[in-house]
Amino acid sequence: MPEPDKLQWRSAFGWSKSSPAGRADPKKGLVIHYDSSDQNLAAKEHKACVDYWKRTRGFHTGPSRGWADIGYSWGACAHGYVMEGRGLFRTQAAQPGGNSTYYSVTLMTGPKDEVTDAQINAVRQLREWLMEPTSSTSGTVKGHRDFIATSCPGDKAYRMVREGTFTKPARWGPETPAPPKPTQPSPPSASKPKPPTTTAPAFPLPKGWYFGPRSGPTYSVSGYYSYRADLKRWQQRMRNRGWVISVDGLYGAQTEGVTRAFQAEKRLAVDGKIGAATWRAAWESPVT
Ligand SMILES: [Zn+2]
Ligand SMILES: [Zn+2]
Repeated sequence: MPEPDKLQWRSAFGWSKSSPAGRADPKKGLVIHYDSSDQNLAAKEHKACVDYWKRTRGFHTGPSRGWADIGYSWGACAHGYVMEGRGLFRTQAAQPGGNSTYYSVTLMTGPKDEVTDAQINAVRQLREWLMEPTSSTSGTVKGHRDFIATSCPGDKAYRMVREGTFTKPARWGPETPAPPKPTQPSPPSASKPKPPTTTAPAFPLPKGWYFGPRSGPTYSVSGYYSYRADLKRWQQRMRNRGWVISVDGLYGAQTEGVTRAFQAEKRLAVDGKIGAATWRAAWESPVT
Protein backbone atom coordinates (compact mmCIF):
# COMPACT_ATOMS: atom_id res chain seq x y z
CA MET A 1 0.00 0.00 0.00
CA PRO A 2 1.53 3.33 -0.91
CA GLU A 3 1.83 5.47 2.19
CA PRO A 4 2.07 9.25 2.08
CA ASP A 5 5.46 10.23 0.66
CA LYS A 6 6.58 11.80 3.90
CA LEU A 7 5.07 9.77 6.72
CA GLN A 8 6.46 9.84 10.25
CA TRP A 9 5.37 7.03 12.52
CA ARG A 10 5.06 7.32 16.31
CA SER A 11 8.50 5.81 16.81
CA ALA A 12 9.97 8.98 15.27
CA PHE A 13 8.65 10.87 18.30
CA GLY A 14 9.79 8.27 20.84
CA TRP A 15 6.27 6.98 21.48
CA SER A 16 4.99 3.39 21.77
CA LYS A 17 4.52 1.76 18.36
CA SER A 18 0.76 1.60 18.75
CA SER A 19 -1.47 3.99 20.61
CA PRO A 20 -2.96 2.92 23.97
CA ALA A 21 -6.32 4.37 22.88
CA GLY A 22 -9.24 2.00 22.29
CA ARG A 23 -9.74 0.25 18.98
CA ALA A 24 -12.06 1.60 16.29
CA ASP A 25 -12.51 1.13 12.57
CA PRO A 26 -13.46 4.57 11.23
CA LYS A 27 -15.04 4.31 7.80
CA LYS A 28 -16.79 7.60 7.15
CA GLY A 29 -13.85 9.79 6.20
CA LEU A 30 -11.48 12.40 7.54
CA VAL A 31 -12.06 15.48 9.73
CA ILE A 32 -9.81 18.55 9.47
CA HIS A 33 -8.65 20.40 12.63
CA TYR A 34 -6.33 23.25 13.48
CA ASP A 35 -4.79 24.92 16.50
CA SER A 36 -6.64 27.89 17.93
CA SER A 37 -3.44 29.97 18.03
CA ASP A 38 -0.90 30.76 15.32
CA GLN A 39 2.21 28.58 15.32
CA ASN A 40 4.16 30.01 12.38
CA LEU A 41 5.56 26.54 11.64
CA ALA A 42 5.77 27.16 7.88
CA ALA A 43 8.60 29.63 8.51
CA LYS A 44 10.54 27.18 10.68
CA GLU A 45 12.38 23.93 10.16
CA HIS A 46 10.36 20.72 10.34
CA LYS A 47 11.94 20.00 13.72
CA ALA A 48 9.64 22.68 15.12
CA CYS A 49 6.65 20.58 13.96
CA VAL A 50 8.04 17.53 15.74
CA ASP A 51 8.44 19.60 18.92
CA TYR A 52 4.90 20.90 18.49
CA TRP A 53 3.59 17.36 18.06
CA LYS A 54 5.31 16.17 21.23
CA ARG A 55 4.09 19.21 23.16
CA THR A 56 0.54 18.59 21.98
CA ARG A 57 0.68 15.00 23.21
CA GLY A 58 2.07 16.20 26.53
CA PHE A 59 -0.83 18.63 26.89
CA HIS A 60 -3.45 16.05 25.89
CA THR A 61 -2.18 13.41 28.30
CA GLY A 62 -1.42 15.91 31.06
CA PRO A 63 -3.54 16.99 34.03
CA SER A 64 -5.79 19.44 32.16
CA ARG A 65 -7.00 16.83 29.62
CA GLY A 66 -5.95 13.48 31.00
CA TRP A 67 -6.47 11.60 27.75
CA ALA A 68 -4.83 8.27 26.99
CA ASP A 69 -2.82 9.74 24.12
CA ILE A 70 -2.57 12.69 21.74
CA GLY A 71 -6.15 13.44 20.63
CA TYR A 72 -5.74 13.25 16.84
CA SER A 73 -5.17 10.37 14.46
CA TRP A 74 -2.75 12.37 12.32
CA GLY A 75 -1.09 15.71 11.77
CA ALA A 76 -0.25 17.26 8.38
CA CYS A 77 2.43 19.94 8.63
CA ALA A 78 3.41 22.90 6.49
CA HIS A 79 6.40 20.95 5.13
CA GLY A 80 4.22 18.18 3.73
CA TYR A 81 4.76 15.56 6.43
CA VAL A 82 1.99 13.30 7.64
CA MET A 83 2.73 12.67 11.32
CA GLU A 84 1.18 9.75 13.15
CA GLY A 85 -0.86 10.54 16.25
CA ARG A 86 -3.12 7.71 17.38
CA GLY A 87 -2.81 6.33 13.87
CA LEU A 88 -4.87 3.62 12.22
CA PHE A 89 -7.73 1.79 13.94
CA ARG A 90 -7.95 3.91 17.07
CA THR A 91 -10.75 5.96 18.55
CA GLN A 92 -9.86 9.64 19.04
CA ALA A 93 -10.46 12.59 21.32
CA ALA A 94 -10.93 15.05 18.48
CA GLN A 95 -14.49 15.45 17.24
CA PRO A 96 -17.14 14.20 19.69
CA GLY A 97 -19.85 12.56 17.63
CA GLY A 98 -17.30 11.20 15.18
CA ASN A 99 -14.40 9.92 17.25
CA SER A 100 -14.76 6.31 16.20
CA THR A 101 -16.38 6.81 12.79
CA TYR A 102 -13.99 9.35 11.22
CA TYR A 103 -10.23 9.77 11.31
CA SER A 104 -8.90 13.18 12.33
CA VAL A 105 -6.01 15.26 11.03
CA THR A 106 -4.81 18.60 12.36
CA LEU A 107 -3.05 21.20 10.23
CA MET A 108 -1.32 22.55 13.38
CA THR A 109 -2.10 26.05 12.12
CA GLY A 110 -3.73 29.04 13.78
CA PRO A 111 -6.22 31.49 12.23
CA LYS A 112 -3.55 33.62 10.49
CA ASP A 113 -1.14 30.82 9.58
CA GLU A 114 -0.85 29.95 5.92
CA VAL A 115 -2.02 26.49 4.81
CA THR A 116 0.79 25.54 2.41
CA ASP A 117 0.52 23.61 -0.86
CA ALA A 118 2.72 20.90 0.64
CA GLN A 119 0.29 20.64 3.55
CA ILE A 120 -2.75 20.40 1.27
CA ASN A 121 -0.99 17.67 -0.70
CA ALA A 122 -0.14 15.81 2.52
CA VAL A 123 -3.84 15.78 3.46
CA ARG A 124 -4.74 14.59 -0.04
CA GLN A 125 -2.19 11.76 0.15
CA LEU A 126 -3.44 10.80 3.61
CA ARG A 127 -7.02 10.74 2.36
CA GLU A 128 -6.17 8.56 -0.65
CA TRP A 129 -4.11 6.19 1.47
CA LEU A 130 -6.94 5.83 4.00
CA MET A 131 -9.30 4.98 1.14
CA GLU A 132 -7.22 1.98 0.15
CA PRO A 133 -8.19 -1.51 1.30
CA THR A 134 -6.37 -1.69 4.64
CA SER A 135 -8.61 0.99 6.14
CA SER A 136 -11.01 1.59 3.19
CA THR A 137 -12.61 4.77 4.44
CA SER A 138 -14.96 6.81 2.30
CA GLY A 139 -13.32 9.84 0.72
CA THR A 140 -15.47 12.33 2.63
CA VAL A 141 -13.62 15.27 4.21
CA LYS A 142 -15.30 17.37 6.89
CA GLY A 143 -14.30 20.16 9.25
CA HIS A 144 -14.49 19.96 13.05
CA ARG A 145 -17.26 22.60 13.02
CA ASP A 146 -19.47 20.19 11.09
CA PHE A 147 -19.79 18.28 14.40
CA ILE A 148 -20.00 20.95 17.10
CA ALA A 149 -19.96 24.74 17.45
CA THR A 150 -16.23 25.59 17.26
CA SER A 151 -13.96 27.86 15.26
CA CYS A 152 -11.95 24.77 14.24
CA PRO A 153 -10.50 24.27 11.60
CA GLY A 154 -10.49 28.07 11.04
CA ASP A 155 -12.19 29.96 8.23
CA LYS A 156 -9.36 29.42 5.75
CA ALA A 157 -9.21 25.65 6.05
CA TYR A 158 -12.97 25.31 6.39
CA ARG A 159 -13.44 27.14 3.10
CA MET A 160 -11.05 24.60 1.56
CA VAL A 161 -13.15 21.78 3.00
CA ARG A 162 -16.29 23.27 1.45
CA GLU A 163 -14.63 23.91 -1.91
CA GLY A 164 -13.33 20.34 -2.15
CA THR A 165 -9.66 21.34 -2.00
CA PHE A 166 -8.72 18.28 0.04
CA THR A 167 -10.61 15.79 -2.12
CA LYS A 168 -8.74 16.61 -5.33
CA PRO A 169 -6.17 13.98 -6.45
CA ALA A 170 -2.84 14.14 -4.63
CA ARG A 171 0.52 14.55 -6.32
CA TRP A 172 2.87 11.67 -5.58
CA GLY A 173 6.58 11.17 -5.89
CA PRO A 174 9.42 13.66 -5.89
CA GLU A 175 8.38 17.29 -5.60
CA THR A 176 10.50 18.47 -8.49
CA PRO A 177 10.49 16.20 -11.55
CA ALA A 178 13.84 15.32 -13.07
CA PRO A 179 14.73 17.38 -16.16
CA PRO A 180 13.66 15.60 -19.34
CA LYS A 181 16.34 13.52 -21.03
CA PRO A 182 17.12 14.44 -24.65
CA THR A 183 15.28 12.13 -26.99
CA GLN A 184 16.97 10.22 -29.79
CA PRO A 185 16.05 11.11 -33.35
CA SER A 186 13.34 8.93 -34.77
CA PRO A 187 14.26 6.49 -37.54
CA PRO A 188 13.06 7.59 -40.97
CA SER A 189 9.68 6.19 -41.76
CA ALA A 190 7.84 6.19 -45.02
CA SER A 191 4.41 6.01 -43.46
CA LYS A 192 3.07 7.97 -40.51
CA PRO A 193 5.56 9.43 -38.03
CA LYS A 194 6.41 7.23 -35.03
CA PRO A 195 7.52 8.58 -31.67
CA PRO A 196 11.24 8.24 -30.94
CA THR A 197 12.35 5.88 -28.21
CA THR A 198 13.38 7.60 -25.03
CA THR A 199 14.26 6.79 -21.45
CA ALA A 200 11.18 5.49 -19.68
CA PRO A 201 9.93 7.31 -16.61
CA ALA A 202 10.48 5.32 -13.40
CA PHE A 203 7.99 2.50 -12.87
CA PRO A 204 5.53 4.06 -10.41
CA LEU A 205 4.33 1.02 -8.44
CA PRO A 206 6.07 -0.64 -5.51
CA LYS A 207 8.48 -3.45 -6.37
CA GLY A 208 6.68 -6.57 -7.57
CA TRP A 209 3.38 -4.81 -8.28
CA TYR A 210 1.78 -4.41 -11.67
CA PHE A 211 -1.17 -2.82 -13.38
CA GLY A 212 -3.45 -5.71 -14.15
CA PRO A 213 -6.63 -7.61 -13.49
CA ARG A 214 -7.77 -7.85 -9.87
CA SER A 215 -5.69 -10.46 -8.13
CA GLY A 216 -2.35 -10.37 -6.47
CA PRO A 217 -0.48 -7.18 -5.67
CA THR A 218 -2.11 -5.15 -8.38
CA TYR A 219 -3.58 -1.86 -9.39
CA SER A 220 -7.26 -2.12 -10.08
CA VAL A 221 -10.13 0.29 -10.48
CA SER A 222 -12.01 0.21 -7.23
CA GLY A 223 -10.58 2.21 -4.41
CA TYR A 224 -7.18 2.86 -5.94
CA TYR A 225 -6.85 6.39 -7.20
CA SER A 226 -3.21 7.07 -6.50
CA TYR A 227 -1.89 5.49 -9.67
CA ARG A 228 -4.56 6.36 -12.17
CA ALA A 229 -2.48 9.19 -13.65
CA ASP A 230 0.44 6.79 -14.05
CA LEU A 231 -1.58 4.22 -15.98
CA LYS A 232 -2.88 7.08 -18.15
CA ARG A 233 0.68 8.01 -18.92
CA TRP A 234 1.47 4.49 -20.15
CA GLN A 235 -1.75 4.34 -22.17
CA GLN A 236 -0.93 7.70 -23.78
CA ARG A 237 2.53 6.45 -24.69
CA MET A 238 1.02 3.31 -26.25
CA ARG A 239 -1.46 5.40 -28.17
CA ASN A 240 1.41 7.55 -29.46
CA ARG A 241 3.04 4.33 -30.64
CA GLY A 242 -0.03 3.71 -32.75
CA TRP A 243 -2.07 1.33 -30.57
CA VAL A 244 -5.82 1.78 -30.30
CA ILE A 245 -6.27 2.35 -26.59
CA SER A 246 -8.33 4.68 -24.42
CA VAL A 247 -6.35 6.98 -22.13
CA ASP A 248 -8.54 6.65 -19.06
CA GLY A 249 -6.19 5.29 -16.36
CA LEU A 250 -8.34 2.18 -15.97
CA TYR A 251 -7.24 -1.39 -16.57
CA GLY A 252 -9.97 -3.05 -18.60
CA ALA A 253 -10.31 -5.54 -21.46
CA GLN A 254 -8.93 -3.13 -24.05
CA THR A 255 -5.80 -2.32 -22.06
CA GLU A 256 -5.29 -6.02 -21.37
CA GLY A 257 -5.61 -6.86 -25.08
CA VAL A 258 -3.11 -4.17 -26.07
CA THR A 259 -0.74 -5.26 -23.30
CA ARG A 260 -0.76 -8.89 -24.41
CA ALA A 261 -0.28 -8.03 -28.09
CA PHE A 262 2.56 -5.64 -27.23
CA GLN A 263 4.24 -8.20 -24.97
CA ALA A 264 4.08 -10.79 -27.75
CA GLU A 265 5.58 -8.33 -30.24
CA LYS A 266 8.42 -7.40 -27.86
CA ARG A 267 9.05 -11.01 -26.77
CA LEU A 268 8.16 -10.27 -23.17
CA ALA A 269 6.26 -12.73 -20.98
CA VAL A 270 2.69 -12.55 -22.28
CA ASP A 271 0.65 -12.24 -19.09
CA GLY A 272 -1.29 -9.00 -19.65
CA LYS A 273 0.33 -7.45 -16.58
CA ILE A 274 2.00 -4.06 -16.87
CA GLY A 275 4.98 -4.59 -14.60
CA ALA A 276 8.31 -2.79 -14.71
CA ALA A 277 9.54 -4.46 -17.94
CA THR A 278 6.35 -3.88 -19.92
CA TRP A 279 6.18 -0.34 -18.60
CA ARG A 280 9.74 0.39 -19.75
CA ALA A 281 9.35 -1.21 -23.16
CA ALA A 282 6.66 1.30 -24.08
CA TRP A 283 9.32 4.00 -24.10
CA GLU A 284 12.55 2.18 -24.71
CA SER A 285 11.92 -0.52 -27.29
CA PRO A 286 11.92 0.58 -30.93
CA VAL A 287 8.59 1.39 -32.49
CA THR A 288 7.97 -1.12 -35.28
ZN1 LIG B 1 -10.78 20.66 15.98
ZN1 LIG C 1 6.86 20.19 9.34
